[in-house]
Amino acid sequence: MNREDELFLTRDFGLDHLHRLETYVSRGGYRAAAKALKTMTPDAVLEEVKAANLRGRGGAGFPAGIKWGFVPRGTDALRYLCVNADEGEPGTFKDRFLMSHNPHLLLEGAILASYAVGIRTAYVYIRGEYESIARRLETAVSEARASGWLGDHIAGTGFGLEVFVHRGAGAYICGEETALLESLEGKRGHPRLKPPFPASIGLFRCPTVINNVETLCHIPGIIRHGAEAFLKRGLPRDGGTRIFSVSGAVARPGCYELPTGSSLRELIYERAGGVRDGRKLKAVIPGGLSAPMLTENEIDVRMDGDSLVEAGSMLGSGAVIVIDDETPMTLVLEKITKFYAHESCGQCTPCRVGTAWMARIAARLRAGRRRNGDVDTLHRLASGIKGRTLCPMGDAAALPVLALVAKFRDELERSS
Ligand code: SF4
Repeated sequence: MNREDELFLTRDFGLDHLHRLETYVSRGGYRAAAKALKTMTPDAVLEEVKAANLRGRGGAGFPAGIKWGFVPRGTDALRYLCVNADEGEPGTFKDRFLMSHNPHLLLEGAILASYAVGIRTAYVYIRGEYESIARRLETAVSEARASGWLGDHIAGTGFGLEVFVHRGAGAYICGEETALLESLEGKRGHPRLKPPFPASIGLFRCPTVINNVETLCHIPGIIRHGAEAFLKRGLPRDGGTRIFSVSGAVARPGCYELPTGSSLRELIYERAGGVRDGRKLKAVIPGGLSAPMLTENEIDVRMDGDSLVEAGSMLGSGAVIVIDDETPMTLVLEKITKFYAHESCGQCTPCRVGTAWMARIAARLRAGRRRNGDVDTLHRLASGIKGRTLCPMGDAAALPVLALVAKFRDELERSS
């Protein structure tokens, strides 16, 4: 199989004006929606997505079809789809890439998900900083509406869907699904206690599906080519391709679409051109800032959720950040801790207080003012946050610090 055949999402990304409806349609766009709405039942669409083993691409990796199946269906009760386009995890920029190149792909995915679950209203919650992309999405919604791909009676059928683009105000925590719902309801973006889960009590207390942008962008391909074709491109337990955003000290930073299970070494050295300026690789964060880092001798790992967990890290949002041998780990530690201290919503004490203390110690290490026991205190603080908070941000703040202390303690202790 050549590399072009591996591409599910980005094959047409070199085309001019792909973001316009006529170009998207000329490349077969909305054909999957027409096929599903005219020839498949909602259950058949759901079963196809389940069979594809499409795992969510936003971070948690939960299978999309199973998530849809949790929503009570079969009545006219209100249900909602929320597209999580908040993408605030540092190092992650794949959803921006998808929405700016091909907004209609996302809309088609939203139509298919909504049809499967019986949803009539969808919101795209997009981070406030993505101003131009939000405008591009709004244009795509208008184009789709004007040509009958949104609104009532899509493709001449009895199914209708309205899509609204909603801009966030720039808080990282609003990428957490229940904080996103609170924000969308006009409240402060504080995560909710779970259960209840959004599938039963979500937006405006109605059953709600929340899917990441990339997850939904895979649905048209699955319906058009079938679950089997999707699975063939990835692993049986984690189907298809995924887009990795690669940044940091690499020669060619950018977004790369690869089959799930491709090697991290291949991604860095073959696709992203290796470490910049002939330097050596020191560490890699493989799944967004919250993923525990791997060292040079740990990068022969497959990029799928299970393999990275076995390696002591996680796939997260598929954002790979490469750190070279000239970067001090005190700088990396300072960036990580400062970010989470700033973004903590403050609801739980371990996260609110613990992240602030970690940031304070990290700043001291960075400034060369290490006190005796600082590294141990850092470890104790991170251990005290882990598993003791209301939402996953506590773990997101603690895990990278624990990994950094475990793997680079000597370097941190030399910082004085
Ligand atoms: Fe807020 Fe942090 Fe608690 Fe999450 S873990 S609810 S971000 S204080």
